Amino acid sequence: MLDRQKANLVDGYTALKAARRAARSKGHGDDRPRKAAEGTADTGRSGAEKRSSGVHIARTVRPESHEIVCYECGYVFRLSGRAQRSFCPRCRTVLDMVDYTLETEWNEDLKTAGTIRLTREAVLVEGVLVAGDIILEGRVVGGSLRAARRLLIRPGTAFPEGRVTARVVEISPGADVKLRGRGSFENIEVAGSLKGRFQVEGLVRIRCGGLLQGEVEAARLIVEEGGGLKAKVKVVRKRGEGKGSRRQGDAGGKGKRRSGLRGTPPSG
Ligand SMILES: [Zn+2]
Repeated sequence: MLDRQKANLVDGYTALKAARRAARSKGHGDDRPRKAAEGTADTGRSGAEKRSSGVHIARTVRPESHEIVCYECGYVFRLSGRAQRSFCPRCRTVLDMVDYTLETEWNEDLKTAGTIRLTREAVLVEGVLVAGDIILEGRVVGGSLRAARRLLIRPGTAFPEGRVTARVVEISPGADVKLRGRGSFENIEVAGSLKGRFQVEGLVRIRCGGLLQGEVEAARLIVEEGGGLKAKVKVVRKRGEGKGSRRQGDAGGKGKRRSGLRGTPPSG
């Protein structure tokens, strides 16, 4: 993976760490792709203290570019390396790029183009949390969550429908999510259990051990060996939907209404 050219850019120690970490996360068999490698060390809050969960190393391993979604205007762009902040090429907002880990009761607004992780101990009581990626292990009793890209739902979480929106949803092994309303997403990946009615622009992937129930309409569907599907299914590729179907900077303003675990309106 590290070819000669890239090796010049990182010192041996960093490369070793990276290799080790890659090996370790592979061994874990869970596929949070770059989560750990992206690191969160110098990211304020309590992220730095979470040594056990593998989020403690921050040094950029290699200058890979990743997708950033502006949380103000929705513009999608790519950025190389890691920065604490950047600015949106479209609306010029200075974007916080820091990753946050919330471990306690939380009741204020927080916006980042990085990741917000609500640990098992976290309870969102109030406030609007907006992030590129959200990892949900804790509970949501008030406020709202919006993942501009990906929402990862781990076991043990609880949230009221209508308070959580995302473009891509991933249900981890062991997580059990039921929705009464209709969810609309770009992609869904199910390694746990997911029940509801879904409209998916792109791909629905059911991993080994995953179970999807209800009603699904998607452009593409993959059921891996060992994955379960017990649903009314419609697989239709819409015209003009190319690969990925991501429209760069397609947001005509804020408040994109493309996706959400919506359905039952959040009433009091
Ligand atoms: Zn913007």
